[in-house]
Order: sequence, then C-alpha cells, then structure tokens
Amino acid sequence: MSDRLVIAGAGHAAGQIVASLRQHDFDGQVVLVGDEPYLPYQRPPLSKKFLAGDMSVERLYFKPESFYDDANVERHCGKRIRAIDRDTHTLSINGASDIAYDKLVLAFGSRARRLQVDGEDLERVHYLRSIADVEAIRADMESSRRLVIVGAGYIGLEVAAVARQAGLDVTVVEMADRVMSRVVSPEISDFYQIEHANQGVKLRLSTGVSTLAGKKRVKAVVTSEGEKIPADLVVIGVGIVPNTELASAAGLEVDNGIVVDDHCRTADPDIYAVGDCTMHPNAIYGRMLRLESVHNALEQAKTAAANICGEDVAYCQVPWFWSDQYDLKLQIAGLSQSYDDVIIRGNPAERSFSCLYLHEGRLIAVDAINAPRDFMQSKVLIAERALLAAEGLADVDIQLKELAA
Ligand code: FAD
Repeated sequence: MSDRLVIAGAGHAAGQIVASLRQHDFDGQVVLVGDEPYLPYQRPPLSKKFLAGDMSVERLYFKPESFYDDANVERHCGKRIRAIDRDTHTLSINGASDIAYDKLVLAFGSRARRLQVDGEDLERVHYLRSIADVEAIRADMESSRRLVIVGAGYIGLEVAAVARQAGLDVTVVEMADRVMSRVVSPEISDFYQIEHANQGVKLRLSTGVSTLAGKKRVKAVVTSEGEKIPADLVVIGVGIVPNTELASAAGLEVDNGIVVDDHCRTADPDIYAVGDCTMHPNAIYGRMLRLESVHNALEQAKTAAANICGEDVAYCQVPWFWSDQYDLKLQIAGLSQSYDDVIIRGNPAERSFSCLYLHEGRLIAVDAINAPRDFMQSKVLIAERALLAAEGLADVDIQLKELAA
C-alpha cells in the first residue's frame, strides 16, 4: 500500500474512491483536490430534480462532510490543479502550495462542449455541468418566459421537460434529424419527439445555430435556416469534452480520453485514471470506450481502489445509463451501435415498453422505458452474451430471461 494517495478532481468517481479505499482498509493518507467549492456530488439530478427545485444541495452530496472527517481525508476544495510533475511526484496548484503524491488517481471528469458561434458569451446563455450552473439557470428561469435549448441530447431534453413543467415556452434546436441520435435508435427518438411535442415543446430538427443575437443579454437564437427564435434564456447542451490536458502535458497517453488498462492504470505505475476522462478497454464489446455515466465512474473507482490496495481486479461491465423526462424513466444498458435486428417489446402507446437490439441473435443493448424488469434482465443477458430465441421477444408476458438459450 502507498503512503500518500492523491485524488485529482473531486467529482462522482473521487467520492467513490474514498468510500472504496475505506472498505479495503487503506492505511495511507488520502488527499482530495478539486476545483469546485463543494464535496463530491452527484450530477444527474442537476438537470432533473435539482433544476426543478425539488432537491436540496445537501442531498446532492455523495457523502456528508463527516464521512471525510471519519476517513481522515485531507481536502482541498476550490483548488485547481495546474500541472502534474511525474518526476518529482507533485501537483502544482493555482494560488497554493504544491501537493506531493506517492500514488495519483486522475478523476478530472469532463466539461461542457462550447458552442462555437458568436454571442455564446452573452448574458443568460448557460451550459449545465455544475451546481453553480444550475443555480444561475434557475435564477434566470424565474424572470424568463421563452427558453431556447440548443441540443436534443439527454441534458437538453431533461431541461426541456423541467422547463415545460415550470410553464416556460420551450424550443429545442437540434442539428441531427432526430433527438438523442447518438445513443438511441430511431424508434426511441420518434417516441420522445412525440412526447415532447405533446407537452408543448417546439422541436427544430436538422437545424444548426448560426448566432446568438443580443447586445449584452441574449435576445434570440438565429438558426442555420435563418429563423430568429426569440429567447429570454438559452441553455446549451451539445456534448462534453474529457478533461485530459494535464495528463497529456505530463506525457501520459491520451486518445479521446486518458488511456488506461482494465485495471484503470495509465502507463505510469503510480498514476491511475477513472471516470469520464478515461479511454478504457471493455472486454464485453472487445474495444476501447469512453463513457459518460455514473455507473462507469463508480465502477472504475471501485476497480482502481481495489488495485491500489493490492488486489488484482479487472474492470468488465455492461455500460448503463438513465434519463428522466416527465414521468418517463429511460434506462439504457449496453451499446446499440452495431445491431442487425431491433425488436419493440410492449406498446409505446402505453408508455411502458422496451427496444431490444440484437446482433446475430445475441442481445447487445436495451432501451427500456418505464420497463425496469426488462432493463434488469437485459443487463444480465448482455453480460452473458446470451443467444435469445427470437420468437417471444416481443411478448411482454414472457420474461426475457426465459428466452435465453
Ligand atoms: P465529474 O463528476 O465531472 O468530476 C470531475 C471533477 O474534477 C469536477 O468537479 C471538475 O471540476 C474537477 N476538475 C477538473 N479539472 C480539474 C483540475 N485541473 N483541478 C481540480 N479539479 C478539477 N450520468 C448518468 O449515468 N445518468 C444520468 O442521468 C446523468 N445525468 C447527468 C446530468 C448532468 C446535468 C450532467 C452534467 C451529467 C450527467 N451524467 C449522468 C453524467 C455523470 O454525472 C458523469 O458521468 C459523472 O459525473 C462522471 O464522474 P467523474 O468523477 O468522472 O467526473
């Protein structure tokens, strides 16, 4: 075991590393360094209950302050790491003393991708990544009537749902020809487009943004079609960028994420990396992946902590994710990109169904909408690479697990 373990970045994965180190009775010193002024917290509620005002900041925290006290964790909140010096084993910190490490875990997460158009820096134009972002959006929502959202991914659509429920006039502008196109099939996109339209959201698909217009404050979103959509408030959700710059400057391999092996190790034996900022191997899909999900952050954190504590644990997980929009819980397991058959199980009109993605008869992914049993069973079947009997897959009276060969 090492003497001094520094966790760089204090988000979801970092919180789990502390918890897992405790479970493994790690007896070294743990140091947590993060640039936000908070303890590690959960981001998913930011675009859901927290944005709606239905959840307090305290409930976002991964663990209460007393947990870190009990674990004797040295905390540096609101401190930004400027550089990693691998020769001297130190981190330089903006405006503070260097921090030394024996072992280092990079948990830098990701940041919102900026929209490269004029007017992106106007007042009342927001991105959504942190507590501070939501507090600013909520404050502006109170004095806004017309919200324009750029990007119809999960975050954009979750914000649309919350804002409609708060009575705002909502328009969503999306460059692709369907919503959530990066992660779900056309069948699921269609379903969500109808749901949002029924809730009064105006969708502009296959539409880019050319400028955000206004003098000091945003007044309108001008689309690639030349339409000028009036806006009192704009929220941009056009994806994320992994925070890899410090790793790259320190000479670690970066390829759309900090490259780690299945033990969450970089090529430097003293440096691990976990969460959104990593590019890692996935044995189930037989390729390198970068994932943006809580499940991945938690599981990589557990893996890294176990290996730091002298165990030999390989990360091998079926990726999963969820999104809450209105009363719809979408649960996604697996990656659907290479499917050759898709089966709808259940009736979308009843707002409870799932979409099964198969490749050569094996289940590779599921999108389950208000269908938690299908989601749970699919996760297991995907991990087992189970061959499924085609007949009966669409029949909700037959459980999926009964169809495995
Ligand atoms: P983060 O939680 O991003 O933590 C990284 C931390 O490191 C941040 O605090 C960052 O500021 C800090 N940091 C970065 N650089 C430095 C530096 N140089 N010095 C010091 N500190 C630094 N996932 C799901 O599975 N389901 C969902 O429903 C879902 N909803 C989401 C909704 C929103 C609005 C957002 C933003 C994300 C959502 N996600 C969801 C994604 C999920 O929150 C992330 O995958 C998860 O937070 C990744 O954890 P992480 O620890 O890798 O990174």
